Amino acid sequence: MMKAVRLVQVGKPLEEADIPTPEIGSLDVLIRVAAAGICHSDAHYRQGISKIDNLPLTLGHEIAGFVEQVGGDVTHLSAGDRVCVNYLVRCGSCEFCVRGLEQFCRSGQMIGKHRDGGYAEFINVPSANGFPLPDEISFEAGAIMMCSSATALHALNKARFKAGESIAIFGFGGLGFSALQLARAFDCGDIYVVEINPAKLASVASMGAIAIDARSADPVEQIKNATAGKGVDVALELIGSAKTMRQSVLCLAHLGRAGLVGLTAESMSIRPYNELIKREVEIIGVSDHLATELPVLIEFGRSGKLRFPPETLRVVDLDAVQINAALDALQDSIDHVRTVIVPSK
Ligand SMILES: [Zn+2]
Ligand SMILES: [Zn+2]
Repeated sequence: MMKAVRLVQVGKPLEEADIPTPEIGSLDVLIRVAAAGICHSDAHYRQGISKIDNLPLTLGHEIAGFVEQVGGDVTHLSAGDRVCVNYLVRCGSCEFCVRGLEQFCRSGQMIGKHRDGGYAEFINVPSANGFPLPDEISFEAGAIMMCSSATALHALNKARFKAGESIAIFGFGGLGFSALQLARAFDCGDIYVVEINPAKLASVASMGAIAIDARSADPVEQIKNATAGKGVDVALELIGSAKTMRQSVLCLAHLGRAGLVGLTAESMSIRPYNELIKREVEIIGVSDHLATELPVLIEFGRSGKLRFPPETLRVVDLDAVQINAALDALQDSIDHVRTVIVPSK
Protein backbone atom coordinates (compact mmCIF):
# COMPACT_ATOMS: atom_id res chain seq x y z
CA MET A 1 0.00 0.00 0.00
CA MET A 2 1.05 3.59 -0.47
CA LYS A 3 -0.10 7.07 0.41
CA ALA A 4 -1.68 9.27 -2.28
CA VAL A 5 -3.45 12.63 -2.25
CA ARG A 6 -6.43 12.45 -4.56
CA LEU A 7 -9.25 14.43 -6.12
CA VAL A 8 -12.38 12.61 -4.96
CA GLN A 9 -15.05 15.23 -5.65
CA VAL A 10 -14.83 18.34 -7.83
CA GLY A 11 -14.97 21.55 -5.83
CA LYS A 12 -13.84 19.80 -2.63
CA PRO A 13 -10.38 19.63 -1.02
CA LEU A 14 -8.12 16.78 -2.12
CA GLU A 15 -8.13 13.78 0.23
CA GLU A 16 -5.41 11.53 1.55
CA ALA A 17 -5.89 7.82 0.86
CA ASP A 18 -4.01 4.55 1.24
CA ILE A 19 -4.22 2.78 -2.09
CA PRO A 20 -2.44 -0.27 -3.51
CA THR A 21 1.07 0.37 -4.83
CA PRO A 22 0.67 0.06 -8.65
CA GLU A 23 1.58 -3.20 -10.38
CA ILE A 24 3.82 -2.68 -13.40
CA GLY A 25 3.64 -4.26 -16.85
CA SER A 26 6.64 -5.51 -18.83
CA LEU A 27 7.25 -2.09 -20.46
CA ASP A 28 6.52 0.04 -17.38
CA VAL A 29 8.61 1.52 -14.61
CA LEU A 30 7.60 2.09 -11.01
CA ILE A 31 8.98 5.42 -9.79
CA ARG A 32 9.43 6.42 -6.15
CA VAL A 33 8.30 10.06 -6.32
CA ALA A 34 10.94 12.47 -5.01
CA ALA A 35 9.26 15.67 -6.23
CA ALA A 36 5.85 16.54 -7.69
CA GLY A 37 5.03 20.07 -8.81
CA ILE A 38 1.71 21.63 -7.86
CA CYS A 39 0.55 23.27 -11.08
CA HIS A 40 -2.07 25.91 -11.85
CA SER A 41 -3.96 23.32 -13.92
CA ASP A 42 -4.28 21.12 -10.79
CA ALA A 43 -6.18 23.98 -9.16
CA HIS A 44 -8.40 24.07 -12.26
CA TYR A 45 -9.11 20.32 -11.96
CA ARG A 46 -10.02 20.73 -8.31
CA GLN A 47 -12.30 23.70 -9.10
CA GLY A 48 -13.90 21.91 -12.06
CA ILE A 49 -12.74 24.53 -14.59
CA SER A 50 -11.03 21.67 -16.47
CA LYS A 51 -13.01 18.46 -16.31
CA ILE A 52 -11.69 15.12 -15.06
CA ASP A 53 -13.75 12.16 -16.24
CA ASN A 54 -12.96 9.42 -13.74
CA LEU A 55 -12.77 10.12 -10.02
CA PRO A 56 -11.16 9.50 -7.63
CA LEU A 57 -7.84 10.35 -9.28
CA THR A 58 -4.36 11.12 -7.98
CA LEU A 59 -3.35 14.52 -9.42
CA GLY A 60 0.19 15.59 -10.37
CA HIS A 61 1.80 15.72 -13.84
CA GLU A 62 5.18 17.30 -12.93
CA ILE A 63 7.15 14.40 -11.53
CA ALA A 64 10.72 13.34 -10.78
CA GLY A 65 12.08 10.51 -8.67
CA PHE A 66 14.05 7.28 -8.48
CA VAL A 67 13.25 4.21 -10.54
CA GLU A 68 12.12 1.63 -7.96
CA GLN A 69 11.36 -1.27 -10.28
CA VAL A 70 11.45 -1.92 -14.05
CA GLY A 71 9.36 -4.26 -16.20
CA GLY A 72 11.02 -7.27 -17.83
CA ASP A 73 11.28 -5.68 -21.28
CA VAL A 74 12.64 -2.29 -20.20
CA THR A 75 16.19 -1.70 -21.45
CA HIS A 76 16.96 2.04 -21.12
CA LEU A 77 16.29 2.44 -17.38
CA SER A 78 17.35 0.51 -14.28
CA ALA A 79 16.35 0.48 -10.64
CA GLY A 80 17.99 3.38 -8.79
CA ASP A 81 18.14 5.72 -11.83
CA ARG A 82 17.13 9.34 -11.31
CA VAL A 83 14.36 10.24 -13.77
CA CYS A 84 11.85 12.91 -14.68
CA VAL A 85 8.53 12.05 -16.30
CA ASN A 86 6.99 13.16 -19.60
CA TYR A 87 3.32 13.62 -18.71
CA LEU A 88 1.98 12.72 -22.17
CA VAL A 89 1.39 8.98 -22.53
CA ARG A 90 1.04 8.08 -26.20
CA CYS A 91 -0.18 4.97 -28.02
CA GLY A 92 2.82 4.98 -30.37
CA SER A 93 0.88 3.65 -33.36
CA CYS A 94 -1.79 6.15 -34.46
CA GLU A 95 -1.23 8.41 -37.49
CA PHE A 96 0.02 11.23 -35.25
CA CYS A 97 2.33 9.13 -33.06
CA VAL A 98 4.08 7.58 -36.07
CA ARG A 99 4.79 11.10 -37.35
CA GLY A 100 6.26 12.17 -34.01
CA LEU A 101 3.26 14.42 -33.24
CA GLU A 102 2.14 12.58 -30.14
CA GLN A 103 0.51 15.66 -28.58
CA PHE A 104 -2.42 14.82 -30.92
CA CYS A 105 -2.38 11.06 -30.17
CA ARG A 106 -5.84 9.55 -30.79
CA SER A 107 -5.75 7.73 -27.45
CA GLY A 108 -3.22 9.93 -25.64
CA GLN A 109 -3.46 10.25 -21.89
CA MET A 110 -2.16 12.93 -19.61
CA ILE A 111 -0.66 11.71 -16.34
CA GLY A 112 -2.50 13.31 -13.42
CA LYS A 113 -5.60 13.93 -15.54
CA HIS A 114 -6.52 10.74 -17.39
CA ARG A 115 -4.50 8.38 -15.18
CA ASP A 116 -3.08 8.54 -11.68
CA GLY A 117 -0.39 11.18 -11.17
CA GLY A 118 2.46 12.03 -8.87
CA TYR A 119 0.80 13.23 -5.65
CA ALA A 120 1.76 9.84 -4.23
CA GLU A 121 4.67 7.81 -2.92
CA PHE A 122 4.91 5.82 -6.16
CA ILE A 123 3.75 6.13 -9.74
CA ASN A 124 3.65 3.61 -12.57
CA VAL A 125 4.44 5.01 -16.04
CA PRO A 126 5.36 3.52 -19.43
CA SER A 127 9.16 3.35 -19.53
CA ALA A 128 9.16 5.60 -22.64
CA ASN A 129 7.89 8.39 -20.36
CA GLY A 130 10.91 8.19 -18.04
CA PHE A 131 13.84 10.46 -18.97
CA PRO A 132 17.21 10.23 -17.19
CA LEU A 133 17.69 13.21 -14.88
CA PRO A 134 21.33 14.32 -14.54
CA ASP A 135 22.74 14.79 -11.01
CA GLU A 136 23.17 18.54 -11.69
CA ILE A 137 19.38 19.01 -11.72
CA SER A 138 17.49 18.75 -8.43
CA PHE A 139 14.36 16.60 -8.34
CA GLU A 140 12.32 19.74 -7.64
CA ALA A 141 13.64 21.50 -10.76
CA GLY A 142 13.41 18.30 -12.82
CA ALA A 143 9.74 17.96 -11.90
CA ILE A 144 8.61 21.49 -12.76
CA MET A 145 10.69 21.58 -15.97
CA MET A 146 8.37 18.91 -17.38
CA CYS A 147 5.43 21.31 -17.68
CA SER A 148 5.82 25.04 -18.28
CA SER A 149 9.48 24.85 -19.40
CA ALA A 150 8.61 22.11 -21.91
CA THR A 151 5.76 24.24 -23.29
CA ALA A 152 8.03 27.30 -23.50
CA LEU A 153 10.63 25.32 -25.45
CA HIS A 154 7.96 23.94 -27.79
CA ALA A 155 6.70 27.49 -28.37
CA LEU A 156 10.19 28.67 -29.36
CA ASN A 157 10.57 25.68 -31.67
CA LYS A 158 7.14 26.18 -33.25
CA ALA A 159 8.03 29.86 -33.86
CA ARG A 160 11.31 28.64 -35.46
CA PHE A 161 13.24 30.90 -33.11
CA LYS A 162 16.94 31.02 -33.92
CA ALA A 163 20.20 32.54 -32.75
CA GLY A 164 20.45 36.30 -33.08
CA GLU A 165 16.71 36.91 -33.30
CA SER A 166 14.87 39.31 -31.02
CA ILE A 167 11.85 38.23 -29.01
CA ALA A 168 8.92 39.72 -27.11
CA ILE A 169 7.46 37.65 -24.29
CA PHE A 170 3.95 38.62 -23.17
CA GLY A 171 3.46 37.57 -19.54
CA PHE A 172 6.07 36.69 -16.93
CA GLY A 173 4.60 33.78 -15.00
CA GLY A 174 6.03 30.26 -14.98
CA LEU A 175 6.01 30.06 -18.78
CA GLY A 176 7.65 33.45 -19.23
CA PHE A 177 10.28 32.71 -16.60
CA SER A 178 11.33 29.63 -18.59
CA ALA A 179 10.88 31.29 -22.00
CA LEU A 180 13.26 34.11 -21.08
CA GLN A 181 16.00 31.70 -20.00
CA LEU A 182 15.47 29.38 -22.96
CA ALA A 183 15.53 32.28 -25.44
CA ARG A 184 18.91 33.21 -24.01
CA ALA A 185 20.04 29.58 -24.23
CA PHE A 186 19.28 29.86 -27.98
CA ASP A 187 21.74 32.78 -28.12
CA CYS A 188 19.07 35.31 -28.97
CA GLY A 189 19.15 39.05 -29.59
CA ASP A 190 17.23 41.46 -27.37
CA ILE A 191 14.49 40.06 -25.11
CA TYR A 192 11.46 42.24 -24.31
CA VAL A 193 9.05 41.13 -21.59
CA VAL A 194 5.62 42.76 -21.43
CA GLU A 195 4.03 42.82 -17.98
CA ILE A 196 1.87 44.96 -15.74
CA ASN A 197 3.01 43.62 -12.36
CA PRO A 198 5.73 45.87 -10.82
CA ALA A 199 7.49 43.02 -8.97
CA LYS A 200 7.63 40.95 -12.14
CA LEU A 201 8.89 43.92 -14.19
CA ALA A 202 11.68 44.35 -11.65
CA SER A 203 12.66 40.69 -11.86
CA VAL A 204 12.65 40.87 -15.68
CA ALA A 205 15.18 43.70 -15.49
CA SER A 206 17.29 41.79 -12.95
CA MET A 207 17.47 38.90 -15.42
CA GLY A 208 18.93 41.17 -18.10
CA ALA A 209 15.86 41.48 -20.31
CA ILE A 210 14.09 44.70 -21.29
CA ALA A 211 10.99 45.25 -19.18
CA ILE A 212 8.02 46.74 -21.05
CA ASP A 213 5.47 48.17 -18.64
CA ALA A 214 2.13 47.79 -20.41
CA ARG A 215 0.48 50.15 -17.89
CA SER A 216 2.56 53.15 -18.92
CA ALA A 217 2.01 53.09 -22.71
CA ASP A 218 0.97 50.81 -25.58
CA PRO A 219 3.47 47.91 -25.50
CA VAL A 220 3.48 47.69 -29.31
CA GLU A 221 4.57 51.33 -29.54
CA GLN A 222 7.23 50.78 -26.87
CA ILE A 223 8.67 47.74 -28.68
CA LYS A 224 8.61 49.53 -32.05
CA ASN A 225 10.37 52.54 -30.54
CA ALA A 226 13.01 50.34 -28.92
CA THR A 227 13.71 48.55 -32.22
CA ALA A 228 13.92 51.67 -34.43
CA GLY A 229 10.47 50.95 -35.85
CA LYS A 230 11.39 47.45 -36.97
CA GLY A 231 9.64 45.19 -34.42
CA VAL A 232 10.74 41.80 -33.10
CA ASP A 233 11.37 38.54 -34.94
CA VAL A 234 9.34 36.37 -32.59
CA ALA A 235 6.63 37.09 -30.02
CA LEU A 236 5.19 34.62 -27.53
CA GLU A 237 1.77 35.26 -26.01
CA LEU A 238 1.64 33.44 -22.66
CA ILE A 239 -1.28 35.27 -21.01
CA GLY A 240 -4.40 34.15 -22.86
CA SER A 241 -6.15 37.39 -23.78
CA ALA A 242 -7.28 38.57 -27.21
CA LYS A 243 -5.78 41.99 -26.51
CA THR A 244 -2.25 40.74 -25.86
CA MET A 245 -2.53 38.20 -28.70
CA ARG A 246 -3.23 41.04 -31.10
CA GLN A 247 -0.33 43.02 -29.61
CA SER A 248 1.97 40.02 -30.09
CA VAL A 249 1.19 40.10 -33.82
CA LEU A 250 1.43 43.88 -34.19
CA CYS A 251 4.87 44.09 -32.55
CA LEU A 252 6.44 41.76 -35.14
CA ALA A 253 9.01 42.73 -37.75
CA HIS A 254 8.68 41.65 -41.40
CA LEU A 255 8.57 37.80 -41.53
CA GLY A 256 7.96 37.73 -37.77
CA ARG A 257 6.23 34.81 -36.03
CA ALA A 258 3.79 35.04 -33.14
CA GLY A 259 3.40 31.88 -31.05
CA LEU A 260 0.09 31.83 -29.19
CA VAL A 261 0.27 29.74 -26.01
CA GLY A 262 -2.20 31.37 -23.58
CA LEU A 263 -5.75 30.00 -23.55
CA THR A 264 -8.80 32.11 -24.21
CA ALA A 265 -12.25 31.71 -25.70
CA GLU A 266 -12.24 35.36 -26.90
CA SER A 267 -12.02 36.33 -30.57
CA MET A 268 -9.03 38.21 -31.91
CA SER A 269 -9.36 40.74 -34.72
CA ILE A 270 -6.70 41.14 -37.40
CA ARG A 271 -6.72 43.27 -40.55
CA PRO A 272 -5.32 40.70 -42.99
CA TYR A 273 -3.64 42.93 -45.55
CA ASN A 274 -2.05 45.59 -43.35
CA GLU A 275 -1.25 43.43 -40.38
CA LEU A 276 -0.32 40.04 -41.88
CA ILE A 277 -0.03 39.72 -45.65
CA LYS A 278 1.97 42.84 -46.40
CA ARG A 279 4.69 41.86 -43.92
CA GLU A 280 4.35 38.07 -44.28
CA VAL A 281 4.01 37.61 -40.55
CA GLU A 282 2.71 34.32 -39.15
CA ILE A 283 0.39 33.42 -36.27
CA ILE A 284 1.20 29.99 -34.86
CA GLY A 285 -0.79 27.91 -32.36
CA VAL A 286 1.25 26.09 -29.71
CA SER A 287 0.03 23.10 -27.72
CA ASP A 288 1.96 21.00 -25.20
CA HIS A 289 5.37 19.65 -26.18
CA LEU A 290 7.06 16.68 -27.87
CA ALA A 291 9.01 13.88 -26.24
CA THR A 292 11.89 14.60 -28.62
CA GLU A 293 12.22 18.10 -27.14
CA LEU A 294 12.75 16.91 -23.56
CA PRO A 295 16.40 15.80 -23.85
CA VAL A 296 17.26 19.31 -25.12
CA LEU A 297 15.39 20.84 -22.21
CA ILE A 298 17.13 18.56 -19.71
CA GLU A 299 20.51 19.47 -21.20
CA PHE A 300 19.71 23.20 -20.74
CA GLY A 301 18.95 22.36 -17.10
CA ARG A 302 22.14 20.33 -16.68
CA SER A 303 24.32 23.10 -18.12
CA GLY A 304 22.65 25.73 -15.91
CA LYS A 305 21.11 27.68 -18.79
CA LEU A 306 17.67 26.90 -17.33
CA ARG A 307 17.64 27.43 -13.58
CA PHE A 308 15.14 27.54 -10.76
CA PRO A 309 16.93 29.31 -7.90
CA PRO A 310 15.91 28.21 -4.38
CA GLU A 311 13.96 31.43 -3.81
CA THR A 312 11.62 30.42 -6.68
CA LEU A 313 10.76 27.06 -5.07
CA ARG A 314 8.70 26.22 -2.01
CA VAL A 315 8.45 22.69 -0.62
CA VAL A 316 5.50 20.94 1.06
CA ASP A 317 5.06 17.37 2.29
CA LEU A 318 2.80 14.74 0.72
CA ASP A 319 0.03 15.96 2.99
CA ALA A 320 -3.51 16.87 1.96
CA VAL A 321 -3.75 19.95 4.21
CA GLN A 322 -0.49 21.42 2.88
CA ILE A 323 -1.32 20.56 -0.74
CA ASN A 324 -4.83 22.05 -0.55
CA ALA A 325 -3.38 25.23 0.94
CA ALA A 326 -0.89 25.44 -1.94
CA LEU A 327 -3.72 24.98 -4.46
CA ASP A 328 -5.73 27.73 -2.70
CA ALA A 329 -2.75 30.07 -3.01
CA LEU A 330 -2.31 29.24 -6.71
CA GLN A 331 -5.84 30.37 -7.51
CA ASP A 332 -4.78 33.96 -6.95
CA SER A 333 -1.04 33.67 -7.33
CA ILE A 334 0.86 36.61 -8.72
CA ASP A 335 4.44 35.43 -8.27
CA HIS A 336 6.31 32.64 -10.04
CA VAL A 337 7.32 30.83 -6.87
CA ARG A 338 6.48 27.18 -7.50
CA THR A 339 5.34 24.76 -4.82
CA VAL A 340 6.70 21.23 -5.04
CA ILE A 341 5.66 18.18 -3.02
CA VAL A 342 8.63 16.36 -1.54
CA PRO A 343 7.37 13.24 0.27
CA SER A 344 9.16 12.74 3.60
CA LYS A 345 10.63 9.30 4.23
ZN1 LIG B 1 1.84 21.74 -14.94
ZN1 LIG C 1 -1.07 7.76 -30.78
